[in-house]
Amino acid sequence: MSEPRIRLVPRMERSPRQARLLRNRLRRWVSPYEGGAEPPSVAVMMTPRALAQLAEHAASDLDNEVGGVLVGKWMVESEKGEEVVLVESILRARHVRQGSTFITFTQDSLVALNDELDANHPRRLMVGWYHTHPRMGVFLSGYDTWLHQHFFPESWQVALVIEPHSTTCGFFIRTADGTLDPQRYYGFREILAEARRDAEYSKSLIIDDARKAAKEEVVRATREIERAKDGALHDLAITSANLAIDLGRQVVREQLEISPAHRERIVRDALGKLAAAAPGKN
Ligand SMILES: [Zn+2]
Repeated sequence: MSEPRIRLVPRMERSPRQARLLRNRLRRWVSPYEGGAEPPSVAVMMTPRALAQLAEHAASDLDNEVGGVLVGKWMVESEKGEEVVLVESILRARHVRQGSTFITFTQDSLVALNDELDANHPRRLMVGWYHTHPRMGVFLSGYDTWLHQHFFPESWQVALVIEPHSTTCGFFIRTADGTLDPQRYYGFREILAEARRDAEYSKSLIIDDARKAAKEEVVRATREIERAKDGALHDLAITSANLAIDLGRQVVREQLEISPAHRERIVRDALGKLAAAAPGKN
Protein backbone atom coordinates (compact mmCIF):
# COMPACT_ATOMS: atom_id res chain seq x y z
CA MET A 1 0.00 0.00 0.00
CA SER A 2 1.40 3.40 -0.94
CA GLU A 3 1.88 6.12 1.62
CA PRO A 4 -1.00 8.57 1.85
CA ARG A 5 -0.36 11.98 0.37
CA ILE A 6 -3.27 13.72 1.92
CA ARG A 7 -3.62 14.17 5.63
CA LEU A 8 -7.13 13.80 6.82
CA VAL A 9 -6.72 16.47 9.44
CA PRO A 10 -5.41 19.71 7.99
CA ARG A 11 -6.74 21.96 10.71
CA MET A 12 -4.67 21.40 13.81
CA GLU A 13 -4.63 23.00 17.18
CA ARG A 14 -1.53 23.01 19.31
CA SER A 15 -3.28 23.11 22.62
CA PRO A 16 -6.76 22.21 23.80
CA ARG A 17 -9.37 24.82 24.65
CA GLN A 18 -10.18 25.50 28.26
CA ALA A 19 -13.59 24.28 29.27
CA ARG A 20 -15.67 23.75 32.33
CA LEU A 21 -17.54 20.46 32.47
CA LEU A 22 -20.87 20.04 34.15
CA ARG A 23 -20.46 16.53 35.46
CA ASN A 24 -23.95 16.11 36.78
CA ARG A 25 -25.24 16.32 33.24
CA LEU A 26 -23.24 13.39 31.97
CA ARG A 27 -24.12 9.71 31.74
CA ARG A 28 -21.11 7.48 31.78
CA TRP A 29 -20.88 4.41 29.55
CA VAL A 30 -18.15 2.12 30.81
CA SER A 31 -16.48 -0.61 28.77
CA PRO A 32 -15.56 -3.98 30.34
CA TYR A 33 -11.91 -3.17 29.59
CA GLU A 34 -11.76 -0.06 31.72
CA GLY A 35 -10.11 0.25 35.07
CA GLY A 36 -6.81 -1.10 36.23
CA ALA A 37 -4.79 -0.64 33.08
CA GLU A 38 -3.32 2.51 31.59
CA PRO A 39 -5.95 5.23 31.38
CA PRO A 40 -6.66 6.76 27.96
CA SER A 41 -4.98 10.08 27.17
CA VAL A 42 -8.35 11.72 26.54
CA ALA A 43 -11.90 11.16 27.69
CA VAL A 44 -14.67 11.18 25.08
CA MET A 45 -17.92 13.09 25.43
CA MET A 46 -20.79 12.82 22.99
CA THR A 47 -23.64 15.17 22.37
CA PRO A 48 -27.14 13.73 21.93
CA ARG A 49 -27.04 14.97 18.35
CA ALA A 50 -23.85 13.10 17.52
CA LEU A 51 -25.18 9.92 19.13
CA ALA A 52 -28.39 10.11 17.13
CA GLN A 53 -26.48 10.68 13.89
CA LEU A 54 -24.18 7.74 14.61
CA ALA A 55 -27.06 5.42 15.47
CA GLU A 56 -28.85 6.37 12.27
CA HIS A 57 -25.82 5.82 10.06
CA ALA A 58 -24.82 2.57 11.77
CA ALA A 59 -28.32 1.16 11.35
CA SER A 60 -28.55 2.18 7.70
CA ASP A 61 -26.65 -0.90 6.49
CA LEU A 62 -26.58 -4.02 8.61
CA ASP A 63 -24.60 -6.05 6.09
CA ASN A 64 -21.75 -3.80 5.03
CA GLU A 65 -19.44 -1.53 6.95
CA VAL A 66 -20.22 2.16 6.93
CA GLY A 67 -18.10 4.94 8.38
CA GLY A 68 -17.08 8.56 8.50
CA VAL A 69 -15.38 11.12 10.69
CA LEU A 70 -16.18 12.52 14.12
CA VAL A 71 -16.38 16.31 14.32
CA GLY A 72 -15.97 18.32 17.48
CA LYS A 73 -13.59 19.99 19.88
CA TRP A 74 -10.46 19.14 21.79
CA MET A 75 -10.59 20.63 25.26
CA VAL A 76 -8.92 20.57 28.63
CA GLU A 77 -11.03 20.82 31.72
CA SER A 78 -10.20 23.93 33.72
CA GLU A 79 -10.41 22.26 37.12
CA LYS A 80 -8.75 18.87 36.86
CA GLY A 81 -6.74 19.40 33.71
CA GLU A 82 -8.30 16.35 32.11
CA GLU A 83 -8.20 16.28 28.31
CA VAL A 84 -11.52 15.70 26.60
CA VAL A 85 -12.71 15.38 23.04
CA LEU A 86 -16.29 16.43 22.53
CA VAL A 87 -17.96 14.74 19.58
CA GLU A 88 -20.64 17.11 18.34
CA SER A 89 -21.52 15.68 14.96
CA ILE A 90 -20.39 13.34 12.22
CA LEU A 91 -19.63 13.50 8.53
CA ARG A 92 -20.50 10.38 6.59
CA ALA A 93 -17.82 9.15 4.21
CA ARG A 94 -19.37 8.80 0.80
CA HIS A 95 -16.60 7.75 -1.54
CA VAL A 96 -15.60 4.59 0.25
CA ARG A 97 -14.71 1.17 -0.96
CA GLN A 98 -16.67 -1.06 1.29
CA GLY A 99 -17.54 -4.67 1.75
CA SER A 100 -18.82 -6.80 4.55
CA THR A 101 -15.46 -6.96 6.26
CA PHE A 102 -13.61 -3.81 5.40
CA ILE A 103 -13.92 -0.13 4.82
CA THR A 104 -11.32 2.18 3.41
CA PHE A 105 -11.35 5.87 2.87
CA THR A 106 -10.38 6.72 -0.69
CA GLN A 107 -8.53 9.89 -1.58
CA ASP A 108 -11.79 11.32 -2.91
CA SER A 109 -13.47 10.70 0.41
CA LEU A 110 -10.67 12.45 2.29
CA VAL A 111 -10.87 15.49 0.05
CA ALA A 112 -14.66 15.57 0.27
CA LEU A 113 -14.63 15.25 4.06
CA ASN A 114 -12.12 18.06 4.43
CA ASP A 115 -14.17 20.29 2.14
CA GLU A 116 -17.31 19.48 4.09
CA LEU A 117 -15.61 20.26 7.38
CA ASP A 118 -14.40 23.62 6.07
CA ALA A 119 -17.78 24.52 4.63
CA ASN A 120 -20.07 23.38 7.43
CA HIS A 121 -17.95 23.22 10.57
CA PRO A 122 -15.35 25.99 10.24
CA ARG A 123 -14.52 26.03 13.95
CA ARG A 124 -14.42 22.31 14.50
CA LEU A 125 -11.81 19.60 14.25
CA MET A 126 -11.85 16.05 13.05
CA VAL A 127 -11.46 14.46 16.45
CA GLY A 128 -11.49 10.95 15.04
CA TRP A 129 -13.37 8.51 12.85
CA TYR A 130 -15.94 5.77 13.14
CA HIS A 131 -17.01 2.67 11.31
CA THR A 132 -19.25 -0.34 11.81
CA HIS A 133 -18.39 -4.02 12.18
CA PRO A 134 -21.59 -5.91 11.35
CA ARG A 135 -21.54 -9.21 13.28
CA MET A 136 -17.82 -8.93 13.94
CA GLY A 137 -17.43 -7.46 17.38
CA VAL A 138 -15.68 -4.34 18.55
CA PHE A 139 -11.95 -4.22 17.76
CA LEU A 140 -9.52 -2.59 15.36
CA SER A 141 -8.31 -4.79 12.51
CA GLY A 142 -4.77 -4.52 11.26
CA TYR A 143 -5.94 -2.24 8.50
CA ASP A 144 -8.05 -0.15 10.91
CA THR A 145 -4.97 0.37 13.07
CA TRP A 146 -2.91 1.36 10.05
CA LEU A 147 -5.56 3.83 8.97
CA HIS A 148 -5.80 5.33 12.44
CA GLN A 149 -2.06 5.79 12.85
CA HIS A 150 -1.65 7.36 9.41
CA PHE A 151 -4.69 9.58 9.13
CA PHE A 152 -5.47 10.34 12.76
CA PRO A 153 -2.01 10.56 14.30
CA GLU A 154 -2.69 13.10 17.06
CA SER A 155 -2.67 11.81 20.63
CA TRP A 156 -6.24 13.00 21.13
CA GLN A 157 -7.76 11.56 17.96
CA VAL A 158 -9.96 8.52 18.56
CA ALA A 159 -11.49 5.62 16.63
CA LEU A 160 -15.03 4.44 17.28
CA VAL A 161 -16.18 0.96 16.26
CA ILE A 162 -19.89 0.13 16.31
CA GLU A 163 -21.41 -3.34 16.08
CA PRO A 164 -24.89 -2.52 14.76
CA HIS A 165 -26.57 -5.87 15.51
CA SER A 166 -25.75 -5.99 19.19
CA THR A 167 -25.59 -2.16 19.33
CA THR A 168 -22.34 -2.22 21.21
CA CYS A 169 -19.58 0.23 20.54
CA GLY A 170 -16.24 1.32 21.90
CA PHE A 171 -13.60 3.97 21.50
CA PHE A 172 -9.98 3.11 20.77
CA ILE A 173 -7.83 5.74 22.39
CA ARG A 174 -4.08 6.06 22.78
CA THR A 175 -2.63 5.94 26.27
CA ALA A 176 -0.26 8.62 27.54
CA ASP A 177 2.77 6.85 26.04
CA GLY A 178 1.10 6.70 22.59
CA THR A 179 0.21 2.99 22.71
CA LEU A 180 -2.95 1.96 20.88
CA ASP A 181 -4.41 -1.40 21.90
CA PRO A 182 -6.61 -2.77 19.07
CA GLN A 183 -8.64 -4.95 21.42
CA ARG A 184 -9.25 -2.78 24.46
CA TYR A 185 -11.89 -0.18 23.99
CA TYR A 186 -13.15 2.57 26.24
CA GLY A 187 -16.56 3.98 27.00
CA PHE A 188 -17.66 7.58 26.82
CA ARG A 189 -19.74 10.20 28.57
CA GLU A 190 -23.06 11.08 27.08
CA ILE A 191 -24.38 14.57 27.57
CA LEU A 192 -27.89 14.04 28.83
CA ALA A 193 -30.47 15.31 26.39
CA GLU A 194 -33.06 15.80 29.11
CA ALA A 195 -30.74 17.97 31.17
CA ARG A 196 -30.56 20.74 28.63
CA ARG A 197 -30.85 21.23 24.96
CA ASP A 198 -27.69 20.42 23.04
CA ALA A 199 -26.97 24.03 22.22
CA GLU A 200 -27.54 25.06 25.80
CA TYR A 201 -24.96 22.62 27.01
CA SER A 202 -22.41 23.56 24.37
CA LYS A 203 -22.95 27.14 25.40
CA SER A 204 -22.02 26.42 28.99
CA LEU A 205 -18.98 24.46 27.89
CA ILE A 206 -17.46 27.19 25.84
CA ILE A 207 -18.91 30.30 27.36
CA ASP A 208 -15.70 31.34 29.10
CA ASP A 209 -13.68 30.60 26.01
CA ALA A 210 -15.91 32.56 23.67
CA ARG A 211 -16.39 35.43 26.08
CA LYS A 212 -12.65 35.83 26.26
CA ALA A 213 -12.31 35.66 22.48
CA ALA A 214 -15.02 38.27 21.93
CA LYS A 215 -13.45 40.54 24.52
CA GLU A 216 -10.04 40.20 22.96
CA GLU A 217 -11.43 41.21 19.57
CA VAL A 218 -12.99 44.33 21.04
CA VAL A 219 -9.80 45.21 22.88
CA ARG A 220 -7.82 44.73 19.71
CA ALA A 221 -10.23 46.88 17.70
CA THR A 222 -10.04 49.62 20.30
CA ARG A 223 -6.28 49.49 20.37
CA GLU A 224 -6.17 49.81 16.57
CA ILE A 225 -8.37 52.89 16.73
CA GLU A 226 -6.29 54.50 19.47
CA ARG A 227 -3.15 53.92 17.51
CA ALA A 228 -4.53 55.41 14.31
CA LYS A 229 -6.55 58.29 15.72
CA ASP A 230 -4.24 61.08 14.62
CA GLY A 231 -2.55 59.37 11.74
CA ALA A 232 -3.04 58.74 8.08
CA LEU A 233 -3.87 55.17 8.84
CA HIS A 234 -7.24 56.20 10.18
CA ASP A 235 -9.40 54.76 7.40
CA LEU A 236 -7.43 51.61 7.26
CA ALA A 237 -7.76 51.20 10.98
CA ILE A 238 -11.50 51.67 10.83
CA THR A 239 -11.67 48.93 8.26
CA SER A 240 -9.54 46.55 10.25
CA ALA A 241 -11.38 47.43 13.43
CA ASN A 242 -14.68 46.67 11.75
CA LEU A 243 -13.29 43.39 10.62
CA ALA A 244 -12.12 42.62 14.10
CA ILE A 245 -15.51 43.48 15.51
CA ASP A 246 -17.20 41.34 12.90
CA LEU A 247 -15.01 38.50 14.04
CA GLY A 248 -15.93 39.22 17.61
CA ARG A 249 -19.60 39.23 16.71
CA GLN A 250 -19.19 36.03 14.83
CA VAL A 251 -17.76 34.41 17.90
CA VAL A 252 -20.69 35.71 19.87
CA ARG A 253 -23.25 34.58 17.33
CA GLU A 254 -21.92 31.22 16.31
CA GLN A 255 -20.24 29.92 19.39
CA LEU A 256 -21.39 31.78 22.39
CA GLU A 257 -25.06 32.47 21.80
CA ILE A 258 -25.08 34.49 24.96
CA SER A 259 -28.02 36.59 25.94
CA PRO A 260 -29.03 39.22 23.39
CA ALA A 261 -28.46 41.90 26.01
CA HIS A 262 -24.89 40.88 26.60
CA ARG A 263 -24.23 40.56 22.88
CA GLU A 264 -25.63 44.01 22.25
CA ARG A 265 -23.53 45.43 25.05
CA ILE A 266 -20.34 44.04 23.55
CA VAL A 267 -21.16 45.40 20.12
CA ARG A 268 -22.43 48.72 21.46
CA ASP A 269 -19.27 49.21 23.48
CA ALA A 270 -17.19 48.53 20.42
CA LEU A 271 -19.28 50.80 18.21
CA GLY A 272 -19.15 53.52 20.85
CA LYS A 273 -15.41 53.43 20.75
CA LEU A 274 -15.47 53.58 16.96
CA ALA A 275 -17.83 56.55 16.98
CA ALA A 276 -15.57 58.37 19.37
CA ALA A 277 -12.70 57.88 16.98
CA ALA A 278 -14.55 58.76 13.81
CA PRO A 279 -13.79 62.05 12.01
CA GLY A 280 -15.71 65.05 13.34
CA LYS A 281 -16.49 63.51 16.65
CA ASN A 282 -13.24 64.01 18.44
ZN1 LIG B 1 -12.77 -2.36 11.00
